[in-house]
Amino acid sequence: MSETLTHRPAPVTVLSEDETLFRDTVRQFAEEKIRPHVKEMDEKAIFDPGLLQEFFQLGLMGIEIPEQFGGSGGTFFEAILAVEEFSRVDASAGVIVDVQNTLVNNAFVRWGSGAQKKDYLPRMATNTVGAYALSEAASGSDAFALQTRAQLKSNEYVLNGRKLWITNGKEAGIFILFATLDPALGYKGITAFIVEKDFPGFTVGKKEDKLGIRASSTCELILEDCLVPKENVLGEVGKGYKIAIETLNEGRIGIGAQMIGVARGAWEFAVKYSQERKQFGKAISEFQGIQFQLAQMATEIEAARLLVYNTARMKDAGMNFLKEAAMTKLYTSQVAERVTSLAVEIYGGAGFTKDYPVEKYFRDAKIGKIYEGTSNMQLGTIAKIILGGK
Ligand SMILES: Cc1cc2nc3c(=O)[nH]c(=O)nc-3n(C[C@H](O)[C@H](O)[C@H](O)COP(=O)(O)OP(=O)(O)OC[C@H]3O[C@@H](n4cnc5c(N)ncnc54)[C@H](O)[C@@H]3O)c2cc1C
Repeated sequence: MSETLTHRPAPVTVLSEDETLFRDTVRQFAEEKIRPHVKEMDEKAIFDPGLLQEFFQLGLMGIEIPEQFGGSGGTFFEAILAVEEFSRVDASAGVIVDVQNTLVNNAFVRWGSGAQKKDYLPRMATNTVGAYALSEAASGSDAFALQTRAQLKSNEYVLNGRKLWITNGKEAGIFILFATLDPALGYKGITAFIVEKDFPGFTVGKKEDKLGIRASSTCELILEDCLVPKENVLGEVGKGYKIAIETLNEGRIGIGAQMIGVARGAWEFAVKYSQERKQFGKAISEFQGIQFQLAQMATEIEAARLLVYNTARMKDAGMNFLKEAAMTKLYTSQVAERVTSLAVEIYGGAGFTKDYPVEKYFRDAKIGKIYEGTSNMQLGTIAKIILGGK
């Protein structure tokens, strides 16, 4: 698993000189610094805290945060490149950087007040992990049926309820958390709050033991009369649904980047193994059956990458990308599942064991069809748009 991969040529997709330099720097860091820890982090289901510090030092936890707030002043496209390159080595590292940049930082940059930006953005860029808390036990796909309640009492909101499945829950210091002022108001009651880990009444509950992305923490959050200052409403009261919808649209491109990274990581190992493994007196890569499988995988990865890159470019260009983001997440997660599954098969029996890296890619790929909206929810969005519905 700690084996490095340096023999593959870089993908041919057109990037600017700056983007190429950025991607190569992130790739080298992932190969040299993350790769040696991947197997152990997966086995122990713990993300190395030292690595997290290095992500901050490299500026990868605040890619789009403006330089005046201590961030890297980069583009959304660069954040996507970072998620892809990290996920090629470890999908857990990929999702940590993804949630920080595409969900949490983006929400602060877009909807934060001047004071909130001044207070929170420098922390997000330099030392504090963020998390995004929408889902609950009874509200997943039907996210706006959430029950966590917020009541205004003098200068503070009092929050009560439980959040489930929250990525980065264990490491995070700051949470963008959605609650309703009144469930009877439906989506119009939903409000986004900035909640800090040490606010009274806030605790992190059970951490899930998962199939894949095991080193990424997924936790329950418990709010028992949790006191949140009135000025910690993000955006407008009752407009949290808009923040949730729009940040998740961006987030889906990030999950697409995670999926193409996972697929490429598995494919590269499959190529290498096929050139080393001998059967019938020759390398299995000399059999046309294997060659065609590798060619099909490479083609699907490239098609998926173009979808991710184009949608990210649309976002940076200020275009509407709702349909494309749904297509990106839907298709890249299908490609990742197919490619990683074939990679296991190309390894034969060895692929089914934990002595080789491909079974982990196969496990990590599965989450792409589930979080930030299941594949059925993406199909629903695409169908509504192409059929002219709302
Ligand atoms: C590892 C992990 C990390 C996560 N991280 C976060 C996080 O950081 N923040 C956060 O808020 N949430 C997070 N989630 C939650 C995730 O977004 C939800 O699990 C997801 O939206 C699905 O919700 P659910 O699990 O309740 O499934 P359900 O909504 O119960 O869906 C079950 C099945 O029913 C299908 N279904 C539901 N409704 C329809 C419909 N109308 N039409 C057709 N099919 C339908 C679904 O497609 C699915 O196949 C995470 C989940 C996991 C597993």
